[in-house]
Amino acid sequence: MRCAVNSKRPILFLVIAIAIFPSITKAQQSKNPAIDAKVSALLKQMTLEEKVGQMAQVSIESLGKIRNGNFVFNQDTFKKAVVRYKIGSILNTPGLQNAQQWNNIIEKIQNTTKETRLKIPILYGLDDNHGVNYVAGATLFPQEIGQAATWNPQLIFNAGVITAYESRAASVPWTYSPVLDLGTNPEWPRIWEDYGEDPYLSSQMGVAFVHGVQDPIGSKEKLVVSLKHYMAYSDPKSGHDRTDAWIPENYLREYHLPPFQACVDANARTVMVNSALINGIPTHINKHILTDILKDELGFTGFIVSDWQDIENVYRRDHITKDIKGAIMLAINAGIDMSMIPYNYQEFCTDLIALVKEGKVSMGRINDAVTRILRVKEELKLFETPMTYLKDYPKFGSAEFEKASYNTAAESITLLKNTNNVLPLPTTAKVLVTGPNANSMRTLNGGWTYTWQGEKTDEYAEKYHTILEAVQKKFGPANVLYEKGVAYNMQGQYYEDSIVDIDAAVKAAAGVDYILLCIGENSYTETPGNLDDLTLSHNQLLLAKAMIKTGKPVIFVLNEGRPRIINDVEPGAAAILDLYLPSNFGADALADILTGNVNPSGKLPITYPRFTNSLVPYIHKPSEGEGNPQGGDYNPQYQFGFGLSYTTFEYSNLTVDKKIYSPNGTATINVTVKNSGSRDGKEVVELFVSDLVASLTPDVKRLRGFEKVDLKPGESKTVTFKLPLKDLAFVNSDNKKTLEAGDFKIAIANQTALFSVDKTVVY
Ligand code: BGC
Repeated sequence: MRCAVNSKRPILFLVIAIAIFPSITKAQQSKNPAIDAKVSALLKQMTLEEKVGQMAQVSIESLGKIRNGNFVFNQDTFKKAVVRYKIGSILNTPGLQNAQQWNNIIEKIQNTTKETRLKIPILYGLDDNHGVNYVAGATLFPQEIGQAATWNPQLIFNAGVITAYESRAASVPWTYSPVLDLGTNPEWPRIWEDYGEDPYLSSQMGVAFVHGVQDPIGSKEKLVVSLKHYMAYSDPKSGHDRTDAWIPENYLREYHLPPFQACVDANARTVMVNSALINGIPTHINKHILTDILKDELGFTGFIVSDWQDIENVYRRDHITKDIKGAIMLAINAGIDMSMIPYNYQEFCTDLIALVKEGKVSMGRINDAVTRILRVKEELKLFETPMTYLKDYPKFGSAEFEKASYNTAAESITLLKNTNNVLPLPTTAKVLVTGPNANSMRTLNGGWTYTWQGEKTDEYAEKYHTILEAVQKKFGPANVLYEKGVAYNMQGQYYEDSIVDIDAAVKAAAGVDYILLCIGENSYTETPGNLDDLTLSHNQLLLAKAMIKTGKPVIFVLNEGRPRIINDVEPGAAAILDLYLPSNFGADALADILTGNVNPSGKLPITYPRFTNSLVPYIHKPSEGEGNPQGGDYNPQYQFGFGLSYTTFEYSNLTVDKKIYSPNGTATINVTVKNSGSRDGKEVVELFVSDLVASLTPDVKRLRGFEKVDLKPGESKTVTFKLPLKDLAFVNSDNKKTLEAGDFKIAIANQTALFSVDKTVVY
């Protein structure tokens, strides 16, 4: 759905690129006859061994090691992989390297490919979860959950532009981002890596990022993305990473597919597969999901890469086959084009060659996979320009880029509570800063920061400000006291913490006006981030209670990947700010919000649950909802889309241009929003629509549009949404999209309106 605002406002943009993010348009997957002709000519020259090599991806740490700070290849191992087995791709970080060191690594790799018969360049890929997080000195952004909390696609587009530029400075042309998994299950340890729980919000953010990173492909400032983890990885029944999800196909299509579809329509060039299982089938062997839906139905012309060791997992973890060879057969036949092996590539290559010779994998399937991989290499112009160099990227790590990260953090921080307008604070205030997240760059960044689990961030991000440092800078060191209270175990499991000295914090509170309680989580990702209890840790709850008992106003600063349950202490908080994982400029943004230099405008991209046994997201059925005498009990701590401001907004004049629409029509919806307070402020206008009666029980409401507006005190704007009625179709139990005749309700803040659709259509 497109949206317009009737008064023009200047859009600040980065000078390195186009930078005005285009609203979602249905672009096409790349089809370039000239490129396809080149690829087909090359394919004709290739032996089976060379083709299979292209399908193999190896992790760099198996090819050498760090010596005196530099990565040094083991010549024999390296040449065997690149020259003898002709592998097509390498991934991962060998340990933190700067952009110049990355130039050296990739140059060595590309030079070595010249020793092969066909000299096909290697495609290197890295996980750029929040900026180029494996390259020292790069600009890191808030993690995706915080990016989504901005509800501002322009900022996400800018992050994509900068990520691409800085990755090219380090010679790496492929990123394993964006994560498009829906954050519907707060138990899942990777919920912070995604754009929240809503398919529409995730689609908008994902598309903005894809455009920022990729367009135009072939430019030396651009990369190809990998959408991940296709699909429904985030919704395991157990809540634990890489476990089975039970989801019928119509729900897959209704909720989990749309963000991938939107980004495929935006021409995403690679897709990474869900590492887990859906309905007992490892996604890596699910031909229906990989080939029928992604390649045939959505028309995806790029390539599919497996996740880490996941073909092997079909055998070892999931017990589907009795050996790896059987797993390779099923996965390649299902549609996997490249295997992130990541170590034992000889076995993969030997087995796949044998499978082709035995007629168990067709030559046609191999040709299709290799065509897709070579097509992407051609589109990136890797054959002509296998290398890019830091010297051509003068803005790498620049202040201009850092400002973009700061802006994203500043718009992401979400004010969840502000009793009696305790915030903003006077700059003369005396503040006690306490809690395990108060003086840590690691917790501000989360996992995927310099290392996989983010455990070395305090060493690598020393020059940026922790919350304590930013608050000291803002209020003056003399006005800021610090007591840890509780500390994480930096060597142990991420969820371990211990009491340092709560009594000392209580004593310190006597001399201050406000307490800033910095709580949440330490860094983690993937399986090591599994958790058995979503409640905030016992020790942190004790600290919170002790602080509340002092009678001083306690401002909770939540710095966490998951929404940890705080109902026991929430009533005692004077104010609550959710930072999520705002990265290296998050504390500066927080300090500006504390003093009112920045007015908070983030909105929750997830539901913040109140109880551990009540984890229903905002998209749910009436039976799960409020006021249902037969069971439903939807009572989150804070609703999806919620977030306060230091000013107030009033909504009026919600209008819909017709009362009755035909299914192919478009509704024009207007609403006026006014800044009725006394400060400048940004407001997210959120359009929800409810289908009132449907043959498949409808969701209580769904987000169908949003627009962030910037208003001066007293200023009003009328926001116009153009909503094609077909966007309201749901996927029925035959897995078909259908829009049924009947009534719909629109809600924007406190404004509501009704309209109806006059005919049923099955698409
Ligand atoms: C993760 C992916 C990541 C890959 C490569 C896997 O364990 O699930 O998200 O892209 O590793 O690092």
